[in-house]
Amino acid sequence: MNPTPIEIKRQTTEGLTITWQDGATTTLSSELLRRECPCAACKEKRGDTTHAKPLTGKKRSLAIVDSSIKEETALQEIWGIGQYALGMRWADGHDTGIYPFSYLYELGEKQR
Ligand SMILES: [Zn+2]
Repeated sequence: MNPTPIEIKRQTTEGLTITWQDGATTTLSSELLRRECPCAACKEKRGDTTHAKPLTGKKRSLAIVDSSIKEETALQEIWGIGQYALGMRWADGHDTGIYPFSYLYELGEKQR
């Protein structure tokens, strides 16, 4: 299946509402969107091992948290990428996540 949005609306209370071609709507909070950011760095942070990792690699002993949760989950800008995905920039400057429409649809289904 290849879900196609006909409308993407920013919510004033942070987040997105997507209306799909079949009439269904999906509302995703910005917190959820950031937590599920599909970029490699975020996947690794979440411990997703489906991504290739270096064979060796010491665990960093010092974790530097350089942005607050509030900044991380504040959606600043969204834009279309081709006909298949959305890009998003967060208040902490993070913008490498590419959210294919099918992925956004899936996130919405998971919430039900
Ligand atoms: Zn990310």
